[in-house]
Amino acid sequence: EKLPGHLRETIQRRTEVLGPGYMLMYKEPVEFVSGHGAHLVDRDGNDYLDAYNNVPCVGHAHPHVVKAVSCQLAAVNTNTRYAQQPLVDYAERLLATFPDELSKLSLACSGSEANDLAMRVARFHTGGEGIIVTRWAYHGITREVSSFSPSLGKGSPLGPNVRLIDPPDPRLVAPGSTLADHMRHQVRGAIDDLERHGYRLAALVTDSAYSSDGIFTDPVGYMTGVVEEVHAAGGVYIADEVQAGFARLGDSMWGFRRQGVLPDIVTLGKPMGNGVPLSGVVFRPEVSDEFGRNVRYFNTFAGSSIPVAAGAAVLDVLEEEDVQQRVLENGKALRAGLEAITQQSPYVAEVRGTGLYYAVEIVQDRESLEPDRTRAEDLINDMRGRRVLISASGKGANVLKIRPPLAFSESDVTRFLETFAEVAEVRL
Ligand code: PMP
Repeated sequence: EKLPGHLRETIQRRTEVLGPGYMLMYKEPVEFVSGHGAHLVDRDGNDYLDAYNNVPCVGHAHPHVVKAVSCQLAAVNTNTRYAQQPLVDYAERLLATFPDELSKLSLACSGSEANDLAMRVARFHTGGEGIIVTRWAYHGITREVSSFSPSLGKGSPLGPNVRLIDPPDPRLVAPGSTLADHMRHQVRGAIDDLERHGYRLAALVTDSAYSSDGIFTDPVGYMTGVVEEVHAAGGVYIADEVQAGFARLGDSMWGFRRQGVLPDIVTLGKPMGNGVPLSGVVFRPEVSDEFGRNVRYFNTFAGSSIPVAAGAAVLDVLEEEDVQQRVLENGKALRAGLEAITQQSPYVAEVRGTGLYYAVEIVQDRESLEPDRTRAEDLINDMRGRRVLISASGKGANVLKIRPPLAFSESDVTRFLETFAEVAEVRL
């Protein structure tokens, strides 16, 4: 056992009080006591490179966010039943980053709550119940949202009103067809099947980065026909930007923009408050106003002064530090490095991704493309052994998921690639 005594003891006590549902990452788990930028520091002062956590988007313990939240905490925290100017300022600023049609904001505390509200509004507006998601999607933890989160597995059954489609993986397209036709055809089929079972469509929900499906960011342009089908069936399109949003994909603040389509509802979370619980739902008013007039939605903590202070500070940093540009530049270097390191490997099917979100698909061989979960796990644990943090995604848990804080710098890219090259030398 290499684990330091204090860590072993914490893990033992943890199991006692938290039970078996609480998993830890890595064969050799780790505990952090501080962080800065894309770096985390353990109790013994060792520096780790964080290439996995998207919540601290502008960096761990960013001083501007710390100051804004601390000042607000020391002043007052009130809820949305009081007229709060900072909340209005924040809502205006955030909405200004969306197309004009998406002009109403509701606040919540987690991505799950955002998707739960989005689906309530979608059901209310359309009068339908049918839901379409991708085959291995994750959208959250509430009863409703887990019923359309197939990645939760067998213990968490899908609703009878839920239909699954493939993520936009060009390798699944039949010869002679196109990705756009493939996606449209699947959505059409799902709508027909729902209707045969007595369900009218409420919504298609897609994660704009297809994170748990294994990360599929390109090619773009296949969504136009999909959204046409959804609208023709009376449903709405919900873009889940909990992972893709806030400049993660580099060329836009919002992942759906890359597709050139307009969602009816957009859900936001994770990086929105840089770690302070803050999430949101953005609506086209035609979709949400009737709900707002008829249903009382008051969420105690959502939109209160402290999370709003965090959210506004995140927007400040995104603007002032020109984060998007950095994401583009460092992302390009990261991707080029990943491709160079893996291109000869018989165990790497593909490098996918854009901005600061990358997938390296680990397979048994390039012909069968069978997932190799064990090799992926070994790679992840080898990286962790060298103090670089990543994890996995996809149905086969075989897709390395590289998703650092957006504060990832040029030297972080260099350190990441040097470490990855060492590990690949042995495993790939
Ligand atoms: N949607 C997506 C795409 C997510 O990745 C997640 C969280 N992993 C959620 C929704 C749920 O967010 P939360 O954990 O904040 O409830």
